[in-house]
Amino acid sequence: MTTKRVDIGFLEEKCNWLLHPRFFPSKVGGKPAWLDLKNVPDFAKLTCKKCEEPLIFLCQVYAPFEESDDCFHRTIFIFVCQKGSCCKTNSADNFIILRCQLPRKNDYYSFEPYEENENECFPMDKWAKLCNVCGIKAPSHCSKCKKVYYCSRQHQILDWQKGHKSICPDLQKKCDPYWNNFNVTEAGQSLLFKEWELIVDEEDEEEVTAVDPNQEMEKLRKMIEEKKVGTLGNVSEGELEQYTSPLPEDKLYNKFSKRIARHPGQVLRYDKGGAPLWITENIGNIKSIPNCQYCNGDRQFEFQIMPQLLNFIHVGIELNSIDWGVLAIYTCKGSCNDGPAYKEEFIIKQDLINVTV
Ligand SMILES: [Zn+2]
Ligand SMILES: [Zn+2]
Ligand SMILES: [Zn+2]
Ligand SMILES: [Zn+2]
Repeated sequence: MTTKRVDIGFLEEKCNWLLHPRFFPSKVGGKPAWLDLKNVPDFAKLTCKKCEEPLIFLCQVYAPFEESDDCFHRTIFIFVCQKGSCCKTNSADNFIILRCQLPRKNDYYSFEPYEENENECFPMDKWAKLCNVCGIKAPSHCSKCKKVYYCSRQHQILDWQKGHKSICPDLQKKCDPYWNNFNVTEAGQSLLFKEWELIVDEEDEEEVTAVDPNQEMEKLRKMIEEKKVGTLGNVSEGELEQYTSPLPEDKLYNKFSKRIARHPGQVLRYDKGGAPLWITENIGNIKSIPNCQYCNGDRQFEFQIMPQLLNFIHVGIELNSIDWGVLAIYTCKGSCNDGPAYKEEFIIKQDLINVTV
């Protein structure tokens, strides 16, 4: 039996400017590289349903639909609340998924690909004011210099504390628009996830030899074991005994481990129309997939984010940090054009521990 090929994603360090929207990147962390530059979502759209703080950009996957002219450019964005306390087992309420697409001929980008020129003038401000800290739409500005914008009071305060206070007087004197609003500011560095390029390539059937797969798997296993503690951080020891560990006889977990052992560093599996590689047999939380709320058409599985990503964004293994086993993203099968420029799509978060109480 042959296994269907899927694409897998790895992370590499890359200069911030090369991840700019005009290069249509897939990326993790930093600010979102928006596709439609005018109809960028704001704080009201990107608010955590639980704590009401702004969600933070996690990653984006550039995934055009070749068969559709409307989807010559197409990107899926994932936002998450950074608070561990908003992260609940097998619940994706702390996430928002957005889909955006553009035809090749559009208002924002040239018809032909851009050359990799750092100094190319590309004023994103022309289309929308973006938060100096997190990069989402920003309705208010610094009342002193009127040069930088903020999505929310929280981010304005953070930026003031983390350096804007000292540069604001200089900006007040400048009359030219100064801001490259894709840079990550000091406040951004303290808040946003570490920025990486996400490189997507075909999964190789060959076993990897460059890194020792056993060692990499051991790292992952250890991480998962430790994350268990994080997931159950608020639970007493007595309650803990009611939870069953899926290790080691969980068949799906074993399949999951075997499949990723070929490329242990993978953070993404892209398999449009395929099926997710679940991390555990405990699939009680997996509900039916709702139809697209814009065209009422079916949704299909498009890609999944792997738990390995947590290591790269330095969420680490602290107690009560955000966590996931698998993030499975489902999108409108026809990738419809109905609704807003940034359309909400569906996510399932499967954790390794299935809390049954
Ligand atoms: Zn929250
Ligand atoms: Zn912001
Ligand atoms: Zn200012
Ligand atoms: Zn649709």
